[in-house]
Amino acid sequence: MSYAVKEIFYSLQGEGREAGRPAIFIRFMGCNLWSGREEDRLTSGTICHFCDTDLRAPAKESGGIFADAGELAQKALKLWPQSAGTKPYIIFTGGEPLLQLDEALCQACHAAGATVACETNGTIATTLPIDWLTVSPKAGAKLKQTSGSELKAVYPQEGLDLEKLATLSFKYFFLQPCDNIKYKSNLASAVAYCEEHPEWRLSIQLHKVVGVE
Ligand code: SF4
Repeated sequence: MSYAVKEIFYSLQGEGREAGRPAIFIRFMGCNLWSGREEDRLTSGTICHFCDTDLRAPAKESGGIFADAGELAQKALKLWPQSAGTKPYIIFTGGEPLLQLDEALCQACHAAGATVACETNGTIATTLPIDWLTVSPKAGAKLKQTSGSELKAVYPQEGLDLEKLATLSFKYFFLQPCDNIKYKSNLASAVAYCEEHPEWRLSIQLHKVVGVE
C-alpha cells in the first residue's frame, strides 16, 4: 500500500501526557470527519468543525506519496539526532492516521528501534501494535476505539458525554481547551471542570505556547 503524507517533521509533542517530549511527526493527509475544504467546515456533512490542521494542502517538501513502509520509516528516522541516547519516538497523526497506518509501517518503525505513537479520532478501531495510543473523540462521531493510553477531549464539545468517556479503558484523561475565538473562556471552563472532576487533567497545546511546529 502507498501512504499519502502531508509532512514529516521533528519537534516537541505539545499535548497530553507526553507533552514536551521530542518526537518525529508523520502527518497523513485526509480525514473521515471533514473534507478539509473551508466551505465545508460548517455544513451538515462535516462532523468535526474546529480542525486547526490544513488537511488538503499540497504536501510540503517533506511529504508526498510513499510507495513503501520501509522508505517512509527511513525518511522519518533520519530526523532523529544521531547522538540521541534514547529510542526514536514517532507520532502518526493527521488527518486521521488510522485511514493509512498499517502493520507494515508499524513493523518498519519497530524494526528500526522506534517507539510508535498514534493520535486518532477514535472512529476506527485498531489492533495495530501501537505503543502509545491517543484517542480524541469528536461529538457526533461514533467512538469505536474505546481503549488506549490516553483520551484527550477538546473542550467544550456539545454532545460529548465526559462522564461516560471517563469510564472507558484509558490510563489518562485530558481536557484540552478548544483553540477558537472563545479560547479564554474555554480554558477557564476546562480548568473548572478538571477541578470538579479530578479524573480529568488539563492539556495545554504546549507547542503553540513555545512557538514550535
Ligand atoms: S478529526 Fe482531527 S484531523 Fe479530522 S477534522 Fe477533526 S481535528 Fe481535524
